[in-house]
Amino acid sequence: MEKYILAIDQGTTSSRAILFDHEGNLVSTAQKEIENFFPQPGWVEQSADEIYGSVAAVLTECLAKAGLSLAEVAAIGISNQRETTIVWDSDTGKPVYFALVWQSKQSESYCEEKRANGHETFIKKKTGLLIDPYFSASKIRWILDHIENGQKRAEAGELLCGTVDSWLLYRLSGNKVHKTDVSNASRTLLMDIHTLSWSKELCDIWNIPLCILPEICATSTVLAVTDATIFGMEVPIASVVGDQQAALFGQTCFKEGEVKNTYGTGCFLLMNTGSKPVFSSQGLVTSVGWKIENEVTYVLEGSVFVAGAAVQWLRDQLQIIPDAPSSEEKAKSVKDNGGVVVVPAFSGLGAPYWKPNVTGGIFGLTRGSGRGEITRATLESLAYQTNDVILAMSRDTGFALSSLKVDGGACKNDLLMQWQADVSQTQVHRPVISETTALGAAYLAGLAVGYWKNSEEIASRWRSEVVFEPKQSASEMKVHLERWEKAVKAAMLFGE
Ligand code: ADP
Repeated sequence: MEKYILAIDQGTTSSRAILFDHEGNLVSTAQKEIENFFPQPGWVEQSADEIYGSVAAVLTECLAKAGLSLAEVAAIGISNQRETTIVWDSDTGKPVYFALVWQSKQSESYCEEKRANGHETFIKKKTGLLIDPYFSASKIRWILDHIENGQKRAEAGELLCGTVDSWLLYRLSGNKVHKTDVSNASRTLLMDIHTLSWSKELCDIWNIPLCILPEICATSTVLAVTDATIFGMEVPIASVVGDQQAALFGQTCFKEGEVKNTYGTGCFLLMNTGSKPVFSSQGLVTSVGWKIENEVTYVLEGSVFVAGAAVQWLRDQLQIIPDAPSSEEKAKSVKDNGGVVVVPAFSGLGAPYWKPNVTGGIFGLTRGSGRGEITRATLESLAYQTNDVILAMSRDTGFALSSLKVDGGACKNDLLMQWQADVSQTQVHRPVISETTALGAAYLAGLAVGYWKNSEEIASRWRSEVVFEPKQSASEMKVHLERWEKAVKAAMLFGE
């Protein structure tokens, strides 16, 4: 009987299940949207029960669509939105509060306090991260402080806590398993990135009891099995991995210096830095990519908070385009940006600037600037923001980028990809399978159960659909880059 690998991609806006065959082909997919709640400005929450419910639903639907059952699944791999934090009752398995989503800024005051107390340098050395509400620690603290007797219940072992991977493992295993993997744990601000274990010192800084945290495991290993009473049989869950690290793996960036960029809601550029963490002096963060058996791969990452979300802004707020793909046609309706530069700093500027209070701006407007120019400039801003991260990364590592592998919704936009090639003077490779996040989780699960032999076998499967070569020279692009730099400076000046 032929077997398949089932990947679950639990993202910020939806949960997806994708069934892959041995050749890495997509056999079947199912998708369900997740509701985001915005109870106050800057807050983003989701229902943890809805997250699990959507995953269970797409898992079943995906198999049903293919006319298959779990008996034909060799292993399940899970990739997940990272940093999003859930606390639940260890007895009943019920969440005690909403999931605090990675974008949520409600725990900023805790971060401010830690920065003011001078913890920044120690925390960076230990975790590779910055003190920011983006990461999980301050979110855990916030939940424990906003439910009744949170701290007391946590210390008494009545609560468990985890990122989305842990929550899904817990529920899929019938409330039996409380684990996470190194890639997810490295985004919490609580794991020592050198020893790959929870740090007592870090937990003390946030006053988080160690007993509520999951066991940290490798990324590619059997972490749990599905509960037979819920799913009819026990199938190994053989990987959990943060979505951006999953995409890096799915793009088969297995060698030191290899880079991928995901153009989704935000942009996430990750470089494989090999077996040693590289610490940034340029506003990037250091995380664990994955651990396979005893081998650890580290990554350097730049996160841009608003990328595809700026295209949604054109669609929803400005109503210039009916849908995201139409942005390409609209941008092509003009010969160039007409001198317009858009800085889409709608939730501050992320890497490499880290300026939470900066707001967006449109610069260079003239009487002739219209929808076409604004759309074109918005798309171009995704390439400039990516380029800023690329430049920071090459300053940190000394690697000169020779090619960039891309994925995510907006990588389908040819005009944007060509602009990226021109701006960064690099080849841009778009793969045949753009579902790289799910593919990465599938590969990691397949490796753990021997479905695929090794990473060489997997790497040989990667195929470019298109390669975008730079068409304009560096000197032709200089003027555009200078204008972008000026616009960012002006936005910062306005936002401070
Ligand atoms: P996420 O995983 O963050 O939800 P996706 O990878 O699914 O994001 O990508 C969706 C994002 O990509 C949306 O923000 C959307 O505006 C943008 N997008 C999708 N298609 C295009 C396109 N053809 N051109 C530009 N942007 C696009």
